[in-house]
Amino acid sequence: MSELHYKLDLLKAMNQKLTEKERMYRMVCDSAEGAFLYYSFDKSKLTALGQWREYFSFEIAELSDLQKILDAVEDEGSESQLREVLYLEKKGEEHAVTECFLKERHLWLQFRTRVYYDHSGRPTDKVIYITNVTKQRHKDEELLYMAYYDSLTGLYNRNYFVQLLSEYIRKASETNSIVSVMNIDIDEFNKVNDGLGIVMGDELVQQFGMLLKDLCQENVIACHLHRDVYCIAIYDPAGTRTAEHIYKAIKARTKQPFLLSNGSDVQITVSVGVAEYPEAARSALELINYAELVVFRVKAMGRNGFQYFNAPILDDFLNSVEVENRLRQAVTNRDFELYYQPQYYTGNMRLRGVEALIRWHSSEGEVLSPDTFIPVAEKNGSIVPIGKWVVEESVRQYSVWRQQFGFPFIMSINISALQYKKDDFVDFLLNILNKYQVKPFEIELEITESVLIDDFAAVSEKLKLLRGYGIRISLDDFGTGFSSLSYLKKLPIDTLKIDKSFIDTVLTDSSTRVITESILNMVKALGFESIAEGVEQEQQYKYLHSIGCDVLQGYLFSKPLPAADLEKMIVGSLE
Ligand code: C2E
Ligand code: MG
Ligand code: MG
Repeated sequence: MSELHYKLDLLKAMNQKLTEKERMYRMVCDSAEGAFLYYSFDKSKLTALGQWREYFSFEIAELSDLQKILDAVEDEGSESQLREVLYLEKKGEEHAVTECFLKERHLWLQFRTRVYYDHSGRPTDKVIYITNVTKQRHKDEELLYMAYYDSLTGLYNRNYFVQLLSEYIRKASETNSIVSVMNIDIDEFNKVNDGLGIVMGDELVQQFGMLLKDLCQENVIACHLHRDVYCIAIYDPAGTRTAEHIYKAIKARTKQPFLLSNGSDVQITVSVGVAEYPEAARSALELINYAELVVFRVKAMGRNGFQYFNAPILDDFLNSVEVENRLRQAVTNRDFELYYQPQYYTGNMRLRGVEALIRWHSSEGEVLSPDTFIPVAEKNGSIVPIGKWVVEESVRQYSVWRQQFGFPFIMSINISALQYKKDDFVDFLLNILNKYQVKPFEIELEITESVLIDDFAAVSEKLKLLRGYGIRISLDDFGTGFSSLSYLKKLPIDTLKIDKSFIDTVLTDSSTRVITESILNMVKALGFESIAEGVEQEQQYKYLHSIGCDVLQGYLFSKPLPAADLEKMIVGSLE
């Protein structure tokens, strides 16, 4: 009896321990992230634990119920893998893992199986641990996407594009074919970005990207390089000049405006440069860079165009890089000098003023003309310190001369768009005038139409402000830019300089004469003063005099001279 009691007590205690253990296991399973399937080989029974209900709506009890799991996952080869993982029981294969997509709940699940064996190698138990890996999976997919694609446009990103382009080049080297790389840049994209905001700018970049995507086909790939710049690579074994066809297609499509979500219609043009393997370069990066260089050229020629790479473009670029490096040095060393070219009233040939023209004494002892370095200085911003020096030096020189000669005249100073745009420009100029005690009307600023292009309204306002102080404004190189006579009347200027290119042919070409005369009539009607630039011949002078041009400047009277030489010339003419 006591033995029976003892055994019963023991059993009770054991049961209690077991239920305690089972409770513990259940709690552990329930609090775990995933679901568990436990299978006992002896009992042929399956038990679901943990978060089973989160993933599956059916019950599971028999081994055959595993089929229900197989039915629930997307079958793209993953089903057979899952079958192996679920039915795993071969000796030596204790672990197996796979991931499958659960159709109904749109989840990615990971199945991880572990089989337990007895000492004779017979399987006894199996646990399948199921976890939700959807987040991880999306992150991986996103990372994978980011590794190859540009998130804004859905086109290839630069890195992957370079890889694919290198592959095209490899193929082309084996087949003796051409690979064309097109660099495509949206013209005046800044206007959209600044005018409509970055979000609309992005929308345009995206829509244009879609356009390029539509043009891709076998052997044609596109990428978004940065901002408003794209690249297309074409493997062209048949040599069919596909780049030109693509350009035509882009032109046709961009005739229609792009409709943005804020309701604006944006009409664009593009500048396209093409560099081809093997002629231009042999590596992917070089081809991309060279195509970009061509785009700079297309932009400089007035945008909205298509051009192939050629050697002079590269030479110009290398030259400008060298100039740029030397220019930095020159700014610190102050290796500049001002030359002065006199301007005379046509009627009495009295001195009207002088134009200050910069020269650069390079370390090699040459005197460099501004055409070789002013465009580079404008591009890299060093025109701002250079321009400040020009203003101060010319005003200082003028104050000395006026004292010395005993009469006032006009000092004309060339001002670049970038200088002019600086907020402190007006204050700086007034300070300098004050410092050297020079009157505002003794100074003339020469601006070109490029100053006006970006923002006509803002520039006009600034010109009015300057003229309000009495500073004279002259429009330089008239006739070379977009020169519309209609905008002239809106411009607050005093003087208009007719470009040398008109004077060059005024004697030989009757249509130039017609234009020059109508410009002069217009100038008179608007009350401006006219100056002819680049007068080299007596006959030109006579003709210009006869049609009423007010002032003449040119080699016929004097080349631009160093200050000391000009001084001698003027002092000589006074004697
Ligand atoms: P620009 O302002 O139109 O200056 C007139 C240019 O024509 C000068 O060239 C002058 O030397 C040249 N020239 C004058 N008369 C004749 C002529 O009869 N025959 C020929 N063949 N040429 C003549 P330069 O000095 O080489 O200057 C070129 C351009 O560089 C200037 O054109 C101006 O736009 C720019 N520049 C010169 N100095 C400065 C400066 O200090 N600052 C800025 N921003 N630009 C400057
Ligand atoms: Mg000038
Ligand atoms: Mg000029």
